[in-house]
Amino acid sequence: MAIAPEQTRIDETDIDRYDPVYRAWLREAVRKVQADGNRSADTHLLTIPLPPEWGIDVYLKDESTHPTGSLKHRLARSLFLYALCNGRLRPGAPVIEASSGSTAVSEAYFAKLIGVPFIAVMARTTVQSKVDLIEFHGGRCHLVDDPSEVYEVAARLAEELGGHYMDQFTYAERATDWRGNNNIAESIFRQLEQERFPEPTWIVATAGTGGTSATLARYVHYTQRATGICVADPENSAFFEGWRTMDRNIRSDKGSRIEGIGRQRVEPSFLPQAIDRMMRVPDAASVATIRTLQRLLGRRCGASTGTGVWAAFRIVSEMLARGEQGSVVTLLCDPGERYLDKYYSDAWLAEQGIDPTPYARRLEQFLETGELA
Ligand SMILES: *Cc1c(COP(=O)(O)O)cnc(C)c1O
Repeated sequence: MAIAPEQTRIDETDIDRYDPVYRAWLREAVRKVQADGNRSADTHLLTIPLPPEWGIDVYLKDESTHPTGSLKHRLARSLFLYALCNGRLRPGAPVIEASSGSTAVSEAYFAKLIGVPFIAVMARTTVQSKVDLIEFHGGRCHLVDDPSEVYEVAARLAEELGGHYMDQFTYAERATDWRGNNNIAESIFRQLEQERFPEPTWIVATAGTGGTSATLARYVHYTQRATGICVADPENSAFFEGWRTMDRNIRSDKGSRIEGIGRQRVEPSFLPQAIDRMMRVPDAASVATIRTLQRLLGRRCGASTGTGVWAAFRIVSEMLARGEQGSVVTLLCDPGERYLDKYYSDAWLAEQGIDPTPYARRLEQFLETGELA
């Protein structure tokens, strides 16, 4: 049967949604976010002074010097670029995020930079200084009593307000350029180039979204390095059990006390197969370690830095016991000044039943003998 001539035209539908006003806004927003990156300097790779005769160098990638004071500045920049380039942000439409605080501080900064409203959904236990910083950058805070509810509340708010739920816990791993583009891994390896052990034996990360450990692991594999990737996990976190059993459905019934890390669920951005080793670190050990670091570095660090450094020191003591030399890298995630009422307050520690004294003693012994038993 012959096809009627008009039938050949049926599928030639054309819907043109090109919006020159939106596209001009988008170009300008992307330029502003990129320009922030272009104005920024690289972060320092500090050394932790240890007895030179050990033959082991420990480095701290100092992520506290970003304009918004934590490693979340990198993540927020990546998330904004990812959302913008995917066409998910619109002029005037709010950005909403579920956060333990640091990401929201950095996202509030980028939201203000491109001129969109920002709302952070956070646990009520988040330190006041982070709430103040979010508000300083023009953001608003929506506090919830149950920390496991932040995701749902953020998604609902976005729906109600016609905004975009940024969802760092899902998108952190894919918004970051893992092959390079001066990501945290590429920066660390470039800064190690002239060191006596330029390929670290281990890099120790901690996990909140899991994005940083994913980027480090992927980069190490992609560039064919032998470096092991270790994740140090605090109490009340689902990551350790999720990794040990490779079961993504593991849940923890309590929230983490170490701000920025340790989640009640195995976040989608945490990639367990890419991680070589995990270590559970008691919260009291994390707190003891930041007090020791204050003496060694002359500055205060957030508690998650203590979690990572404790694990790094454990690895150093194992290397010493085996007579190995080499280097270990971990991260200074954010400054301790944000937590003066928490990890640096004896009253808060007592109230939480956290006693750093036995771990402080073990750290003393480590610095003298190299043994962290
Ligand atoms: C987010 C965060 C981490 C962990 O980084 P992720 O890439 O999200 O896993 C560690 N410390 C602090 C203070 C953080 O805010």
